[in-house]
Amino acid sequence: MNYTVDKNGFYGGFGGAFVPEMLYHNVKELQDNYIKIIESQVFQKEFKALLKDYVGRPTPLYFAKRLSKKYQTNIFLKREDLNHTGAHKINNTIGQILIAKHMGKKRIIAETGAGQHGVATATVCALMGLECIVYMGEIDINRQAPNVARMQMLGAEVRPAKSGSKTLKDATNEAIYDWIANPENTYYLIGSVVGPHPYPDMVARFQSIISKEMKTQLQEKTGRDYPDKIIACVGGGSNAAGAFYHYLNNKKVTLIAVEADGLGAKTNKTAATTQVGTKGIIHGSLTYLMQNKEGQITEPYSISAGLDYPGIGPLHAHLFFSKRATFLGATDNEAVEAAFELTQLEGIIPALESAHALAALKKIELNKNENIVINLSGRGDKDLTTYIKILKK
Ligand SMILES: *Cc1c(COP(=O)(O)O)cnc(C)c1O
Repeated sequence: MNYTVDKNGFYGGFGGAFVPEMLYHNVKELQDNYIKIIESQVFQKEFKALLKDYVGRPTPLYFAKRLSKKYQTNIFLKREDLNHTGAHKINNTIGQILIAKHMGKKRIIAETGAGQHGVATATVCALMGLECIVYMGEIDINRQAPNVARMQMLGAEVRPAKSGSKTLKDATNEAIYDWIANPENTYYLIGSVVGPHPYPDMVARFQSIISKEMKTQLQEKTGRDYPDKIIACVGGGSNAAGAFYHYLNNKKVTLIAVEADGLGAKTNKTAATTQVGTKGIIHGSLTYLMQNKEGQITEPYSISAGLDYPGIGPLHAHLFFSKRATFLGATDNEAVEAAFELTQLEGIIPALESAHALAALKKIELNKNENIVINLSGRGDKDLTTYIKILKK
């Protein structure tokens, strides 16, 4: 079984680049250049320096003693929450802004749902002095005022998507129209391991720093460079892809992906794509997505904005289909409970997304001598209003 992308952008039966003819040249330009650029010495030098001094890498691998005691196993947290801007997303936006620079692009566009990827994009555009336009559904703009303010303070223009359901998928459509209209000078910066080839592979490569560091850190702490299990939450799948990357071919490592069940996978308020989704094309890639009988994307739901995505990237579709990874779901309530548990046992307030990964501890078999890594994708500051509502109940 092969888990790397083939030359057409497929992971097994999933992936590809299903784009309108007018985007063919943009996508082809990126396909033809991304590996050359990433592997060049100039790029690597700049990328590593920024990850170290701007993002704050390597992030620690922390042995969570009290949590481990409670679950009678050895639990390590990969602290992506300690990155600049509070999550793993910055690893990818730093990588792609350097790609854009190397390709001579002067104008950056992105779409965002809750605003997390928009903020990470606006951040690196400020860093590089590049024009930044972020498309965001009108409803999301109203729901996510603090992130809109952050993007504006960083100098980005936030453009409302007013069509359809006025949420993420509509913002995606607007970004794609923009790219079609401005093919020469514009770079489209995608926020997860989704989109047409080469985005899923490119984003996975940038996030793979997570498991690269894990190998060294586990060797130091456990005398072995791999854990028994890795647990990560999946929205589009980029933090999970990064945490799994260097272990995809090591069958001794059990990979556990946790999706958001929302109010329950059997209700229509869910984002559990592998449970309720079917094969189809979303965002230029053949994968699993939530759609109705007519093939229209259905609106996902989760308490955590970052997992509120109606599909999963093609690598994850392949990991699910081939059974290389185990897919679980955690509900809103289970995630919130796990967030409070981590906070009170370890003094770490996790992002609601990451709390879904933590919730898996109650759903899997655990053994006393195992080493488990949970990818703590982000910090909980942004979710404080949600947490405060629960405290007041
Ligand atoms: C965006 C986000 C996610 C979900 O995105 P993936 O691409 O699946 O990683 C998870 N955790 C945090 C903290 C996020 O901001």
